[in-house]
Amino acid sequence: MSELVVRAEKLEAGDELAGVRAQFVLDGVVYLDGNSLGALPASVPGRVEDVVRRQWGELRIRSWDESGWWTAPERIGDRIAPLVGAAAGQIVVGDSTSVNVFKALVAAVRMAGGSGRDEIVVDATTFPTDGYIAESAARMTGCTLRPVTPDQVPGALGERTAAVLLNHVDYRTGRLHDLPALTAAVHAAGGVVVWDLCHSAGALPVGLDEHGVDLAVGCTYKYLNGGPGSPAYLYVRAGLQDRFDSPLPGWNSHVEPFGMRPGYEPAAGALRGRVGTPDILSMLALEAALDVWDGAGVSIEAVRAKSLALTDFFLECVASYVPAGAVESVTPVAHAERGSQVALRCSDAGDVMKRLIERGVVGDFRHPDVLRFGFTPLYVGFGDVERAARVLGDVIR
Ligand SMILES: *Cc1c(COP(=O)(O)O)cnc(C)c1O
Repeated sequence: MSELVVRAEKLEAGDELAGVRAQFVLDGVVYLDGNSLGALPASVPGRVEDVVRRQWGELRIRSWDESGWWTAPERIGDRIAPLVGAAAGQIVVGDSTSVNVFKALVAAVRMAGGSGRDEIVVDATTFPTDGYIAESAARMTGCTLRPVTPDQVPGALGERTAAVLLNHVDYRTGRLHDLPALTAAVHAAGGVVVWDLCHSAGALPVGLDEHGVDLAVGCTYKYLNGGPGSPAYLYVRAGLQDRFDSPLPGWNSHVEPFGMRPGYEPAAGALRGRVGTPDILSMLALEAALDVWDGAGVSIEAVRAKSLALTDFFLECVASYVPAGAVESVTPVAHAERGSQVALRCSDAGDVMKRLIERGVVGDFRHPDVLRFGFTPLYVGFGDVERAARVLGDVIR
């Protein structure tokens, strides 16, 4: 047995989260694509069946009250809150990440309050949807868009800064940005910061309240395993909620939704971020998926510790199994700068990923030359890591 196989077994034996895998529906495949679509938690199908057959099929309209449908966006927001370091009452679930980026960014510009603050700073390397929406939000609010690389953000801030849209973890490279320092820099310049947590929530501690973040958004189908298209969430810091002026003021965020009044008057609190009728089926599938976080010993700190151990071990196995020079990691080595994925630059990456998938190792390919491997500590083990790197070595050779 190779030394790395022995090491994998040792790490596996010491893994306090190893038992959580049994709560997911998985087969013999090494699934390293949970940063794109999290695996299915075993509790979800039964819950969805109950929601459809009993809540919808039998209770019908009564379920808006009796099954808690109406308050699901806030209730499920409060389930996500501890995972991102937020006290209750600051997160609502609903709509897609793209839509929430729009709400948050326009609201941020409105909060920043005019008088010469006419710039939106955005990460130039951001996930495309964030960039597209920032461009549109800038046009709608009469702002100028300033796309800069994350390391240029501090230098780009100033008296003209209204809002800043940043990613906590870069979706392509897996680089973890310095949320506390960048948030402080935006505040020192007098701006409002919006963080996109798509690739960090559920994988590492975020500390929204602790670091004074203003607004944040994120999806729930990556490390939170909510299922395809499960609704996203919006965080508005408690102290800013009164000033949150939504660009999408729907009846669900009205102070009196069933008053059916012609004039809009926003509700208090996080539910001001709601728009229209929530997508109950997806939302309640997400609620069931979040049950895995209630298990003994499952905490975001434990997840982070295992995530770093997994990515460290993967880098070590890749260095040992893959011929020197064939791949180059674009993910930072320093733990403080690493999310929960490893991205390897490689020629013919699209073809290499195709052959990996054929051999039971599922990651993904990001144009033009990146092999992306996501590590979800709730269900990925050290044996998976060793096998993935070994198969990668075979495929490249
Ligand atoms: C996955 C992801 C999204 C996805 O947005 P949707 O509206 O859910 O399609 C947005 N931003 C980032 C940074 C992402 O990683």
